[in-house]
Amino acid sequence: MIALSCPVRGCGQPLAREERTLRCKAGHAHDVSKHGHVNLLQPQDKRSTDPGDRKDAVLARRRTAERGLTRDLIRRLGDVVAPHLDPEDALVDVGAGDGFILDALQTRLGCEAWGVDLSREAVELAARSYPRLGWIVANGDRRLPFPDGAFKAVLSVTGPKNAAEYARLLAPGGVLAVAVSGPDDQAELLERVLGSARRDERDRRIRELFEGHFTWRETLEVTGGYELGRDALRDLLDGAYRGVRHAARQRFEGIESLRVTLSHRIVVFEPR
Ligand SMILES: [Zn+2]
Repeated sequence: MIALSCPVRGCGQPLAREERTLRCKAGHAHDVSKHGHVNLLQPQDKRSTDPGDRKDAVLARRRTAERGLTRDLIRRLGDVVAPHLDPEDALVDVGAGDGFILDALQTRLGCEAWGVDLSREAVELAARSYPRLGWIVANGDRRLPFPDGAFKAVLSVTGPKNAAEYARLLAPGGVLAVAVSGPDDQAELLERVLGSARRDERDRRIRELFEGHFTWRETLEVTGGYELGRDALRDLLDGAYRGVRHAARQRFEGIESLRVTLSHRIVVFEPR
């Protein structure tokens, strides 16, 4: 098992477990919750304007995953990381949300698995749902509470894009997979409720952002068309586009069902 690093600024010593507490040699103590997750968010890591996803968005995303709408993405992510992971190796998902994807991958791969998210609600749901995995509340845009080279696979699925930190965490022979929305993701739905669909090519920006720290290997496309009813469509909106929810909601009222494209790009990197 990976020993977590103390997140107190300037400390970084290994944390040892004593019943419901994680403690470093300097005496910094961090409580383990009753669900088994640990909140290692430090005062300097909090962003008062954005404490992470709210509970309704977290639950909407969970329902979307339970409908099987992330199944292809999970399968392709598993294909990418599997050759790099033996059962004694470890995998981390930064921005793991409610943990559905990480749980599915761990079930397939059998390795040690850690999920990190800034949202307390998301991590608590993950820890209650999948107690055999490790769950941490921390800010993925800052230093993460793991030692150097702890992981053979690092995932960011529409999560933080912290290239320098992922390079620190990734062991030689490991793999980094960064998944982002494709340019046509939810295009039909966004066109109906927003009047226009996003068309930016995020995967290109990801390559630019990460190539200073990693060697790009390949970019995979995961795209499918799905006939979705109102509940499924509402969960897509609530899970992804909280900022426009009010305006979107009125246009959404007229839609009973819609064929929607769901699309991701998985940008795969290896350590330099
Ligand atoms: Zn400490």
